[in-house]
Formats: sequence, structure tokens, C-alpha cells
Amino acid sequence: MKILPFIILLFLAPTTFGGELPDLGDVSQASLSPLQERQVGQQSMMQIKASKQFLNDPEVNDYLNEIGDKLVQYSNEPSLDFEFFAVNDYSVNAFALPGGFVGVNAGLLLVTENESELASVLGHEISHVTQHHMARMVSATKGDTMASMAAIALAILAARSNPDIAQAAVAGTGAHLMQKQLNFTREHEQEADRLGLDLMEKAGFDPHAMPEFLQLLQKSTRLSDGNAPNYMRTHPITSDRIADIENRVSNQPYHLLPDSIDFDLVRTKLIGLQKTPRNAIRYFTDALTTHRFGNQLAQRYGLVSSLLRDNQVDRAKAELAVLLKQAKSIPAAQNNAMLTTLQARVKRAAKDPDTLDFYRTAVQNFPQYRALIYEYVDLLLNNNQADAAIKLLTDQVTLHPMDTTLYDLEARAYHQMHNPLEQHRAQAYSLAWQGNLPDAIMQLEIAKREGGSFYQLSIIESDLRELHGMQDEQTKKK
Ligand SMILES: [Zn+2]
Repeated sequence: MKILPFIILLFLAPTTFGGELPDLGDVSQASLSPLQERQVGQQSMMQIKASKQFLNDPEVNDYLNEIGDKLVQYSNEPSLDFEFFAVNDYSVNAFALPGGFVGVNAGLLLVTENESELASVLGHEISHVTQHHMARMVSATKGDTMASMAAIALAILAARSNPDIAQAAVAGTGAHLMQKQLNFTREHEQEADRLGLDLMEKAGFDPHAMPEFLQLLQKSTRLSDGNAPNYMRTHPITSDRIADIENRVSNQPYHLLPDSIDFDLVRTKLIGLQKTPRNAIRYFTDALTTHRFGNQLAQRYGLVSSLLRDNQVDRAKAELAVLLKQAKSIPAAQNNAMLTTLQARVKRAAKDPDTLDFYRTAVQNFPQYRALIYEYVDLLLNNNQADAAIKLLTDQVTLHPMDTTLYDLEARAYHQMHNPLEQHRAQAYSLAWQGNLPDAIMQLEIAKREGGSFYQLSIIESDLRELHGMQDEQTKKK
């Protein structure tokens, strides 16, 4: 993880935003309340977003949440609002922050060989959260603020994934970090494995995938001259640990579980995004001609996406036709949100006159699918239909209160509706959740000057107080 320099340089100290959350004060008790854990997690998320590590791709993120939620429902905290998100890093790692935030590196998604292996990592991380492992580490010292705990949480993760900067992490966050790091025990790992395994079984994944994935990581370490994947540093894999899990799954039958179509589509998408559009086109064309890889549907999905990125619309249309024909013979590919979204994108690029209707129907069929919603709202705004856009966005913001793209779209809609107060307020929310406090404050000041009802202005005042509070704490930390 490359989060660390950011922490040392800025030591950003935002708190949760939006008025419903309490003060920035010290934590007096040894263990955090659920609300405090959530705040530490949210502040860590703001830092991750500000460091540009967050992979803002709604399709990858919605997929991770779909698999994660399948597991969470069997945990001992099924109502905890987990957020799974992708990290734009092609090294192999995954991590859990207090309060239900689970990050998965693009690199980890690419090395997993099947969906159960991915589920084994998510189940393990979910269990770190529900057992409050990280929360216990960051709250061991009385008098820490939420912000400093968020920084410590990230520093622990950064230090553990990169020993070279571990020294710097200790220097940046104080000596007690060292002790906290040492407290990240073998028992925590074993507990997370055991509980994760339980979640996998209950959710119908193949439990054998857990030891298999750990062995794969161990083997890859031996092959790469002891250069361990980051995952093994943040979650030390010992022979004991593998033996323990193997022992637990040895009597269990293998579930021969077909991977979802999305597992392959999401991974193909990540492979494409790593390359320039031209290189991606070459890569997928080659894969399809040589039949080198298993999933032709996914390869063609990658090809059509890359052609769109390169503005080769006619070729994209032709390849999409082949893809849709192929999809007809695969039951699992019917009524698939990712394929529907690709179809919509090709229509849009080709300036097909029924594009808007197609998006409208698609959003009705997949009302929670953010990629479709972002693009449909964008089209609505291009067609001066701000009222319809705001209707959709209001629901989505309630579901995803930290989604900065939704706030950006809201700002555009309010601008069209000549509502500058709400426009600048939405811009402020977007900036704040990206960790950019000075600009967020500036937007709120502009909103205030626009004037509004007593109710609107008092919300802005309260948001301003909160943001100034965060900024003061940031200054104090430096
Ligand atoms: Zn772990």
C-alpha cells in the first residue's frame, strides 16, 4: 500500500461528515463503540480516497459488495453496514478497517482462480471486522482522537505490507504503534480463518478454496525469491495456519461451484484497465484468436470495452453482436447487469436514437446498479431532465452516503435547476468525502451566501462547524 507517505505528510484528520455524528473528542474508554469504529473507518476511507488509491469503478465495487454481502448475512453482525471497495494497486493484498470497510487490491482479484477463493479472503476480512481486531489495536491507548486512530489504522496496514516503510510509520505515528503492531497476533489470524471458513460454508462457497488460496500464495512466494505478496505480510501465513484450516475442511465435501459470469467479467475489466486501449485491443484479439483462455465471453467483453475506449464504435458494435449471440446460449448470462451496461454503452457511443429508452429500462431492471445509474443520470442531464435525475440521485445518496460521483451528478442537476445553494452543498459533500477540506469549506461558504430557508442555512452552518472542527484538528496534529 502506498498510503503511508500521505499520512506522514498531511496527517489529515477529518471526521465523519453530514451532521449526524458526534464530536472529535478523545476516546476515553479502552474499547470503541460501534459508532466510533464506524467513524475511524470513515476517516480512513477519506484518507484512502484522497490518496487516489480508491478504484472508483462502480462495476468492480458493486461486484465486491455482492459477494461480500452474501457472506456478511451469516456473520454475527449481519446488520453492520459493510462497504467493500477495490484498491487501484496490482500487488496482492486485502485489508479490513474498523467499522466494516474492506479493501481488495485489483491484484488480489486477478490472482484468485475462482470465486470461492475470493470469498475466502472476504470471509477472513469480514471476521477481522466483526471480531474488532483492528479496532482493538487502535483503541488501546487512552486519549487518542478518532483522526489519530484512523491514521494509526492506515499506518499499521501500510507498515505491515511494506517493511521498507515500516520504520517511517513508527516515526510518524509514535512509538506506541510498534507495540500495537506486535499485538496483531497469530490468534487473530486463526480466529479470522475459522470464522471466515464458517461464513463460506453457510453462504455455499467451497471451503477447500481457503487452504488452496493460501498455498497458492505461499508457493508464489517461493517462486519469487521470498518476495512475499503484501497479503502475506498483513495476514501472516504460517504452516500452522494452513494446517489448521486444512484440518477443518478435510472432512468436508468439495462444492463444485460454477463461478458467476461477473467474476470473469470484472477480472477481464481489470486486465483491460491495466493496459492502454490499443494494447488491450491487441491482447483480447490475440486471446480470442488463439483460444488461449477459458472464458470467451469475458474476453469478448474485454475487447468490446477496449474498442469503446479507443472510439472504434463500428468494430465495437460488430463484436458486441457476436458477444450477445454467444450469451444467448449461456443461461447464467441472461439478464446480466454488466452485459446490459456494455450494450447500453455501445448504443450510446453509436448515437443510437433509442439509447435513453434503453438506459431507462435497464435502470428499472437493475435499480441498484450504480454504473447504469451514473450513466443514465448523465444522459438525463445532457437532455435537460434534471428533475428526473434528482429523483434517482436522492435515493442513491441515501444508500451510498460516501459516493462522491453521486454528489458530483447532484451538483450538475442542481446547477441545471438554478439552485445554487444545493449545487454548492453537493459539491462540498463530494470534496469532503474526498478528504479535501479547504475546498469543501469554500463551497459551503458560497452556498451560504446564496441564501435559503432557515432550515437549509442551519444545516449548512452545522456542516461548516463540523468541517472547521476537522480542519482545526488537522492543524493541531501537524
Ligand atoms: Zn488476517
